[in-house]
Formats: sequence, C-alpha cells, structure tokens
Amino acid sequence: MAPMTDTFNALVLREGDDGPVGAIEQLTEADLPDGDVTVAIEYSSLNYKDGMALTGVGRIVRSYPMVPGIDLTGTVIASESPEFAVGDKVISTGYRVGESYWGGYSERQRVRSEWLVKRPVDMTALTAMAIGTAGFTAMLCVMAIEESGVQPGEGPVLVTGAAGGVGSVAVALLARLGFEVTAVTGRPETQEYLAGLGATAFLTREEMTEKARALETETWAAAVDTVGSAMLAKVISQMKYGGTVAACGLAGGADLPTTVMPFILRSVRLQGCESVMTPMPMRVAAWDRLSRDLPADILPSMTEVVPMTELLDRGPTILAGQVRGRWVVDPSS
Ligand code: NDP
Repeated sequence: MAPMTDTFNALVLREGDDGPVGAIEQLTEADLPDGDVTVAIEYSSLNYKDGMALTGVGRIVRSYPMVPGIDLTGTVIASESPEFAVGDKVISTGYRVGESYWGGYSERQRVRSEWLVKRPVDMTALTAMAIGTAGFTAMLCVMAIEESGVQPGEGPVLVTGAAGGVGSVAVALLARLGFEVTAVTGRPETQEYLAGLGATAFLTREEMTEKARALETETWAAAVDTVGSAMLAKVISQMKYGGTVAACGLAGGADLPTTVMPFILRSVRLQGCESVMTPMPMRVAAWDRLSRDLPADILPSMTEVVPMTELLDRGPTILAGQVRGRWVVDPSS
C-alpha cells in the first residue's frame, strides 16, 4: 500500500459526448463523498459490471463524476461508526457502490458503515479481492444449492461460463465440497486451467446453446448458471428430478426460452442469486464460508493483478468474455 499523503490516485469517470471518459486523477479527502468510514484501499477487482461502467454499456452509472469499482478491501483510517475502528480490515461489495456511489478504483474511499463487512481474520486483502463480487456470488449459488438439499454423490453439478470469475470460483468451491463438477466453456484452451480448479468433465458452449427440448436426459443434480438465455434453458431441461439451478448471470443474454415442463414434471428448482442487496447476515455467512471452503492454494492460478492505470484499456476485455478467472486491481500502480 502507498504511504499516506494528502493526495491520492483515483480513476474518475466523467460524462463525455459518446459515453464516459475516464482518467487517473489526484484527489484529496475533501473530494470524497459523505460517509462515516474512510478506507485506505489495498485492492479492488474487475467484475462484469465494472466492465459495463468503464465502457458505458447498460448505463450502469447514472451520474458523473463517478469513481467505479464495485469491490474494495482495505484498512479503516477514520471512523465515526461504533461498528468499525481505525485499523479494522474491511470488505465492501454491492450496495450499488461503483454504480451510484463512489467505489474501489481509488487509493482511498469514504463509504457507509452499513455496506462493510469485517474481513475474515485469516483472509488477505489479495484473497478477498481475488474473490470479490464474482466469488461472493459463486458462494451464494453454492449455498442455495446446499439449502435446497442437493448433496455430493447425487450426480454431477454443471457450471456455465466456467472460465469467468463467478464460474471459476464456483468450480473450485464445488470441487472442494466434494461435488463432481462439469464445466461449460466457450474457450477449449481453458480446460487445463479448469481441471486445476477441480472440474472433471467439459462441455462446449456450442453444444449447451443448441435449442433445448422441453425435457432432455436427466443429467445434473445441480447447476450454477452465469450465462442465462439458451444455455440456461438447456440446463433446466437436463436437470435431474428435484435438482436445483442457481442462476446469477446473463453473459449470454437476459431472456429465458424455456417451458414449465421441467418444473411441473421433475420438481426442478430455479433459484435466483443476487449479490448487491444480499442481507448482512447472509453476507457475513458467505464470507465466512469463503474463508474456510475456498482452497487458498488455488487462487493464484485464477488471479491476475492489474494496475489501476491499465483498467481503461483492459476493462472492455471482460465484456468480450476474455478474462480468465479474476482480475484484482491495484490502485497504487
Ligand atoms: P466473466 O466475464 O468473468 O465471466 C462470464 C463468462 O461467461 C465468460 O468468461 C465466458 O466463459 C462466458 N460467456 C461470455 N459470453 C458468453 C456468451 N455470449 N454465451 C455464453 N457464454 C458466455 O463475468 P463474471 O463471472 O464476473 O459474471 C458472470 C455473469 O454473472 C455476468 O452476467 C454478471 O453480470 C453476472 N453477475 C451477477 C451477479 C448477481 O448479483 N446476480 C454478481 C456477479 C456477476 P467461458 O469462456 O468459460 O465460456
């Protein structure tokens, strides 16, 4: 982390004629928004939504100037909250930080204490942001599958968009918990990487986006879907009786061309998973689970540290589906 000075670097998006225009700017604490906790940020990360904010796709950011970055972790350097003291290690994900409120692409940020969770004691800043919103969402999906009663040994579990951020963490978590994991990827060159995370079988994007029949062979005990659209329809049609699909993403589209047949004839459960407004008790539980169940030795293989100064060039890569695993953002470089 950079030594404390009066000025610090932040990536600031300003409104341009053809979408947001970003630049690294030098700010002071007087520039920061209202809030009761100030955090010296060690790392942020790049999520799909950050790619949208950086490029202006989907109008994720409604008012400018904006410091994007939906995730941050760091050390509290000032606090008016009884819940947090100077020196506490904290994590912020969701709550529209980086969309409606200034976020993590800064060396310092002022936030609201109700957005913060304390970083698990044995979790480093790098690990926390290697997880980030993507990994947190993967954990919510795994918890949803567990809560539905599906257990290892009941059949293979499918993960779509497997080489992406949510997918990579989902594969690693499920494999560590003893599930047999099949990974769907549109990038065959990532199969070795996915096998390293614990996937034991692979399907191509093409075969999983062929038009689904109402009911196909019962194959999956559970699934984590990050893709939506035709792929999610295919997954639903292939679920085993009583299986659960945890759906969290739309990398392939927001539509869902399915039928009711898997639901009414196979008791298939479709569980949505949402990370932005997740209630605080579930947040704390998910981070606790991540600190225990995600193999720390696997994180380096799925993580690349990216200087904040390169984000404007590299941000759009995630929208093209070309990021493998997770990019951690270092605001000090
Ligand atoms: P990534 O870009 O890291 O991963 C998405 C993956 O989906 C890609 O790596 C690729 O995997 C696959 N993919 C991309 N485009 C297509 C396509 N057209 N058709 C089929 N597959 C495609 O993003 P994240 O993992 O960060 O996020 C995944 C999704 O989850 C996004 O839609 C995001 O908005 C959503 N999300 C939702 C959250 C929530 O709270 N509900 C929280 C976080 C994310 P491969 O190359 O292996 O095929």
